[in-house]
Amino acid sequence: MASDYDDDDDKGAAGGSRVFKEFDCPDCHANNPVDETFTDGDEVRCNYCGNEYKVLVNAEGRVKFKEL
Ligand SMILES: [Zn+2]
Repeated sequence: MASDYDDDDDKGAAGGSRVFKEFDCPDCHANNPVDETFTDGDEVRCNYCGNEYKVLVNAEGRVKFKEL
């Protein structure tokens, strides 16, 4: 429940962090590090296949990507 403080330690998603520094493309499965972090509602673009996705983070901190 103590999710008010900033925590950029990204080992394990169980801590409830909803900010992400990389993602795996749902389409080509490439791993994409991002310069700026993204979170729920942001849009990301795969550097490999060029697809763009809307980021959806659920209550458990799990990320889903909706193709734009
Ligand atoms: Zn891709």
